[in-house]
Amino acid sequence: MEVAKTIELVRSLVQAARSKGKKVGFVPTMGALHIGHISLIEAAVKNCDFVVVSIFVNPTQFGPGEDFEKYPRPLDADLKICRKAGVDVVFVPTPDQMYPSENLTWVNVEKLTESLCGQFRPTHFRGVTTVCAKLFNIVAPDVAFFGQKDAQQAVVIKRMVADLNMPLEIVVCPTVRESDGLAVSSRNKYLTEEQKKDAAYIYKSLQKCREMIEAGTTDTETIIAEMRKMLSQAPSIQIEYVSIVDAETLQNLDRIIGKVLAAVAVRTGPTRLIDNILVDAGKK
Ligand code: AMP
Repeated sequence: MEVAKTIELVRSLVQAARSKGKKVGFVPTMGALHIGHISLIEAAVKNCDFVVVSIFVNPTQFGPGEDFEKYPRPLDADLKICRKAGVDVVFVPTPDQMYPSENLTWVNVEKLTESLCGQFRPTHFRGVTTVCAKLFNIVAPDVAFFGQKDAQQAVVIKRMVADLNMPLEIVVCPTVRESDGLAVSSRNKYLTEEQKKDAAYIYKSLQKCREMIEAGTTDTETIIAEMRKMLSQAPSIQIEYVSIVDAETLQNLDRIIGKVLAAVAVRTGPTRLIDNILVDAGKK
């Protein structure tokens, strides 16, 4: 496994692999790798011949007062995980490599970035799409792997790739959860025991939503009220949003119809946690 700290090196390693006819898979991450990331790496290793993982805590997707400075950066442990998982190249650029001067060019996906997390993190998605566009240009993969855990991100990236005719495929892998249902996240490291217990109510509220849809409830307001009730059982949780949206347009729905995304964002203490489920309620 090679650790590439420069754009030039990762480009030349990928070019060498491609010239041998290898299919290149790419997993962009911010590091602090866990079993959720490993599931994406495993999908890449299974489906591609040459796998690149990037580890870059991207400053442009953090807003003022967010956790950019304190975001965990356990590089040695991350490299070990990548080696064990069969990764070919880990790309670990410095912020100066990625943003050598003031960034004047931004990629912004409209509409899809306005709902859900976009309401609360107004500059987040343009940071994500800009860094992913840069990483796709640097790594030039055939396939890039993203997690359903960040559902809005996956929808936004797919749209960017389609709208800008980027020559790669986006594969979205299922959310990996702890035994109590909590979606695995690098930010779970911040939680106290009590906050972790409370955080399990996020998935409970999403399960409640699925049960209600499966039992035939179609009024989203009724479902959201029950989800909020479930979350209110967790004393440390402050709700940011509980939303039921169309899975493609990410627009709020009054009634359950077609493929819906139920998504929750909360804070417990200083930590922000998100989760979601997709439910197919049948034909529109
Ligand atoms: P991050 O390092 O948080 O930027 O995440 C890198 C990639 O891993 C993103 O595509 C995430 O959606 C994905 N990911 C994070 N947590 C999980 C999880 N629990 N299950 C599946 N994918 C995940």
